[in-house]
Amino acid sequence: MADRDRKVAENVDGPYYVDESCIQCGNCAEVAPENFTQGEEFYYVYKQPENDEELENCQQALEECPVDAIGDDGEELEEEEEEEE
Ligand code: SF4
Repeated sequence: MADRDRKVAENVDGPYYVDESCIQCGNCAEVAPENFTQGEEFYYVYKQPENDEELENCQQALEECPVDAIGDDGEELEEEEEEEE
């Protein structure tokens, strides 16, 4: 499971992210090119999914990542935001 304390800095805010265990295999950017791209050291999420197709692709990328470096913590994120208010 991805570790949100080790998120790659380039990730945009939102539920999906890549953490620093990414080994740059490139699969996520092939499966979900609208959302994942290659950074200097790791791949990262440059755009959160905005429709069902992108959501499906992101979910597939998460499931296929060989090192479980992709996380989706939408629910936990919402809880955190509520706590901050
Ligand atoms: S699939 Fe996983 S290991 Fe491969 S580039 Fe994407 S985040 Fe990195």
